[in-house]
Amino acid sequence: TVGAVAVDHWGNFAAATSTGGLVGKWKGRIGDTAIFGAGIYADEKLALTCTGDGDVFLKETVAHKVATLYTHKGYSLREACREVIHEKGFQGGIIAVDSRGDAGHKKSQICFVSILKYNNNPPTSDCCHSM
Ligand code: ASP
Repeated sequence: TVGAVAVDHWGNFAAATSTGGLVGKWKGRIGDTAIFGAGIYADEKLALTCTGDGDVFLKETVAHKVATLYTHKGYSLREACREVIHEKGFQGGIIAVDSRGDAGHKKSQICFVSILKYNNNPPTSDCCHSM
């Protein structure tokens, strides 16, 4: 997956994702990448894209869950990503941007949260940067 998220000077959000899909996928399969709320999401508060097992991301509407925790449950961007990706031990990652930042500061924050259990990568990682 190649995913990108952006916020402009006026607070408009955008997300874009491209993928080759899963190895051995069924002909005609449409993964999570193209489905808003599954592997990609953007509204007036945040934008995010996901990578990983798209069938799980579709079933669990991962992108929408992150947005709901962030917008309606008071989670920070990092907490929302972590909560959803750790919930069922997903293998995958989320990149997300908001305009709130930690502690409610009006400053954009970009977060990357992942669980990758192969290629000698550490099992989990996450980092956030204020912009
Ligand atoms: N999420 C993609 C899919 O299931 C795979 C990827 O991460 O590129 O099609």
